[in-house]
Amino acid sequence: MANANIEELPGVGPATADKLREAGYTNLMTIAVESPKTLADACDIGEATAIKIIDAAKKAADVGGFESGDIIFERRKNLDRLTTSSKAFDELLGHGLESQAIHEFYGEFGSGKTQICFQLAVNATLPKEKGGLDGDVVIIDTENTFRPERIVQMANAHGVDPEEVLKRIHVARAYNSSHQMLLVEKASDVSKIHPVRLMIVDSLTAHFRAEFVGRGTLAERQGLLNKHMHELLAFAEVNNAVIAVTNQVSAKPDAFFGDPTRPVGGHVVGHASTYRVYLRKSKGTRRIARLIDSPDRPEAEVVINVTEEGVRD
Ligand code: ADP
Ligand code: MG
Repeated sequence: MANANIEELPGVGPATADKLREAGYTNLMTIAVESPKTLADACDIGEATAIKIIDAAKKAADVGGFESGDIIFERRKNLDRLTTSSKAFDELLGHGLESQAIHEFYGEFGSGKTQICFQLAVNATLPKEKGGLDGDVVIIDTENTFRPERIVQMANAHGVDPEEVLKRIHVARAYNSSHQMLLVEKASDVSKIHPVRLMIVDSLTAHFRAEFVGRGTLAERQGLLNKHMHELLAFAEVNNAVIAVTNQVSAKPDAFFGDPTRPVGGHVVGHASTYRVYLRKSKGTRRIARLIDSPDRPEAEVVINVTEEGVRD
């Protein structure tokens, strides 16, 4: 369905098709899920034209219709699962991380967010029998915390060739929030050459938080974050990929709700994330992972360890 040619859309001639492709809209699904304004800006076409193209793509790609539960059940059996290397953590999430879903790991500095990302990156390259996705990985690194040395340690601990693993991990440093968003589009280019099955954004919110300060900027920040989340989800669906993002907690205690541990980005990030995990430091290598908000798992918490070998029970 989504693989039909974009030229076949009514009203899209060869010139517009070229513009669409140049802007990264290479299949119907990416067009169908785009907003008219973004498509218009990206392809330098009128917004009315953009609306027509998007409507046509929605019809051709068959998105947005109703399906019966048994068909959804059948499709969900085809979702892939990615292990965390901790049995307890996998069980908390229901057999690891799910493809076509966004997983948000939030917590204070040092709570293990980045280490979990490293472990997931290594694991995604593993064969499926070992809990991997036999895929490549894209990491959008906003805080300059990617450490290949840690990948080497974790790969060795799993008895796989570190060099082979590193070759499959594609890292880009994001210099600001708009660059970060652009890198999701770039990731689509990578996915045309390599089978990208995991995308990591570490940290999802740091740039947004630093750039949009003051009350007047909140609406704009939330709008952009919303767009970013939807582009991540679209990537996940098109590539049957797992998405893992990290988020900080707001240090400012909330007088009304009395909860000093609220993730940045509020409802926008919360609603778009399928699974949210709150991480807390404990003694030594111990970390407490709490599943906060899940469509199909009970709220519960487990203890994991972040060691030199990686994430463990
Ligand atoms: P954040 O949540 O801020 O991203 P990290 O995931 O980077 O935090 O976690 C940092 C912690 O990970 C360190 O405090 C340490 O406990 C652990 N850690 C980092 N590197 C190693 C290592 N080589 N061996 C053992 N533990 C490590
Ligand atoms: Mg970090």
